[in-house]
This record gives sequence, structure tokens and C-alpha cells, in this order.
Amino acid sequence: MALNGNPAYWSNAIQNADITEFERVFEQYTAEDGRGVLVLDTQRNVLRINSAGRDLLAFTKRVPAPLGDVIRDVEVGFALGDAVHDRRTSERESFLTDPDRVLRITIIPVRTGAGIVDRVLMTVEDVTRLRHLETVRRDFVANVSHELRTPLASINLLVETLQSAGATEDESRHFLRRIAVETQAMNQLVEELLQLSRMESGRLSLNLEAAPIREIMETVRNRLVMIADEKDLRLTTDAQMGIPPVMVDIAAIEQVLMNLTHNAIKFTPAGGTVTLRARLKHPGVEVDVLDTGIGMDSSEVTRIFERFYKVDKGRNRDGSSGLGLAISRHLLDLQGSRLNVVSEAGRGSRFTFGLPLASS
Ligand code: ADP
Repeated sequence: MALNGNPAYWSNAIQNADITEFERVFEQYTAEDGRGVLVLDTQRNVLRINSAGRDLLAFTKRVPAPLGDVIRDVEVGFALGDAVHDRRTSERESFLTDPDRVLRITIIPVRTGAGIVDRVLMTVEDVTRLRHLETVRRDFVANVSHELRTPLASINLLVETLQSAGATEDESRHFLRRIAVETQAMNQLVEELLQLSRMESGRLSLNLEAAPIREIMETVRNRLVMIADEKDLRLTTDAQMGIPPVMVDIAAIEQVLMNLTHNAIKFTPAGGTVTLRARLKHPGVEVDVLDTGIGMDSSEVTRIFERFYKVDKGRNRDGSSGLGLAISRHLLDLQGSRLNVVSEAGRGSRFTFGLPLASS
């Protein structure tokens, strides 16, 4: 006879039963309800509390006990007073610490047969995760808007300049090229967002096959070597001799290595070296992307896998979105691997992940 559903249901059920009867079978009523449930008198004494309530409120002492001892949030006491006075169900959210959590507390005044409110039922739900998800979603929308606003503003400006007469042919060509660059940046952002969304909704299926890691590394090197040359960087591959084929989704691993190597090139000053390395490491192959670049300090390292995170937003204004590492980690997660990083400010970074052998 668990009571589930909304507050109105609770209060009806209790009114139809008898409050004394309800209190007698309290545990039975609330056992199957995930929520914490408390019965109080109107003097703010907690008369009963179910085990879910004890867990959520971290309350271990005996009842009856004053409400202030059970929930350390005076506002709840005030809300209870108001609810009793107005004879109305009310709701509030409480932020409790140690551990940090957000609890939704519903206060339901219960009338006895004579019409006097003499008991209060309180339900407690943990909405920490819900609130967290809402924050994540809000931040996400804010970040996407922000990332799109910059290229859009540039394009607007460039178009206005082109429209106003006076630009020479050369200048016009230059502006058009810049418009193309900005459009390309927006395109990439949208592609990355779609890919993240496909991965998160489980719609991205991997195509695992046996592949030589050395070749994948060479493909990546060939695609990026010109950019490295332009920056006067040495881009090398170093695969241990005789490594057997690995079991991977080739396109996914190429993308991960492209992201990591491109970052390494971006964040390494001229004269430095970027190395793609593969070593046998039981039970599989360990792949590293090493650079001798600017590195990061430990507070930065803990955050770089977050979406949209860029260490110094001012530093790289090259259309990068801060999604590359989030996507790379996700792609490796899907293959049961993990992307890790060791970095030191001023000395360089090493990104590492493991891959299984095709034969094992
Ligand atoms: P972005 O598109 O900005 O490169 P990423 O998710 O790939 O986004 O990287 C997030 C941030 O992590 C980068 O903006 C940069 O500040 C930092 N980062 C990534 N790789 C390196 C590296 N090899 N050396 C130093 N910093 C790096």
C-alpha cells in the first residue's frame, strides 16, 4: 500500500484514512516510496521519519526531535509555519552541505476530521542531479551561442564593409576569404556538436576492425605535416617495430589522433617537436602524442576534457571551439579506452591512450 504520486494524493490518502492509523502503519506506507517522508506536529516536532528520509537528511538520532535538528535550514521551519497557517501545500528547495545536495521539500498540512490542521507531512526528494543537468544544459546553450556569435559578428562586419562602396578588388577578395574562414569555423562547430549528440544518444556505432597502428599514425602525420612545417616544427612518428594490429574503429582513432596532434602543433612554439608514438604495453598498445610546447598547469589539466573549455580564451582565436578533447575522450570511451594527459607548464604535454590488440 505504498503511497506514490503527487502531494494531493498523499493528503487525500491520509485524510481518507485516519491520521493515527496512518502513523501506525507509517513505515508500511512509505517503504516503497523512494522519497523521504516525515510526519510532524504543528509545533515543528518530527514525530516520524522513514529510512529514505534519514538517508537523505543524514539524520541518525531518535524521533521525536525538533525540525531544526533534522533539517538544518531555518527556511523550512518558516515554510512549515506558513503552510499550516494557510492550510496549503507548499514546496521549497533546500541546499544542504556535507555532502552538497539539493533537496525538494514538499510540506502538506494534514487536517483531521474536525478540520483542524494538527499534523504536517513532509516529503523529501533529492533533486541534485536534476539541478545539475539543468545547469549543464543552460551552460551548453550559452556556450554554443557564444561560439557562434563571434564568427557571425565578423561575417556581418565583413559583409557591411563589402557592401559599402570603396573596397578595391584585392580588398574584396581578402574580405571574401575571411568570410569563408569564419563560415568554415561555424561549420566545424556544428559538425562537432552533431557528433557529440550522436555519441551521447548512442547513435554512433563503431566499426571495429584489425588495423596497423603505424599506418594510422602515418596518415595523420601526412595530413598535418604541412601545418607543422609552416610553424617550423618537427612532426615525427615512432612506432615500435613488430607491433601486431590493433582492434579499432579506424576513422575514430584517426580523428582522435588528428585532434591531439593538431593541438600539439597549435600549442608548441617554433623549433619544437611533436611525436606520435606507439609501444606494446601489456595487454595492448599504448599510443602517445607528445609535444615540447607550452604545456598546462595542473588546474588546467583537470578541466581540458570539459566541453568548450579553452585554457586561455584569448590565446587561441583560431576558430577552435574547445570541443576537440571532449569528443576525443568520448570516442575512446566508446572503444573501452581512456584518454589521459600529463603536462607541465612550459615543458610540454603527453596525451596517452591504450588500444587492444586484434589477436587478443
Ligand atoms: P580546442 O578546439 O580549443 O583545441 P580542445 O578540446 O582540443 O579544444 O582543447 C581544449 C584546450 O586544452 C585547448 O584550448 C588548450 O588550451 C588546451 N590544450 C589541448 N591540447 C594542448 C597541448 N598539447 N598543449 C597545451 N594545451 C593544450
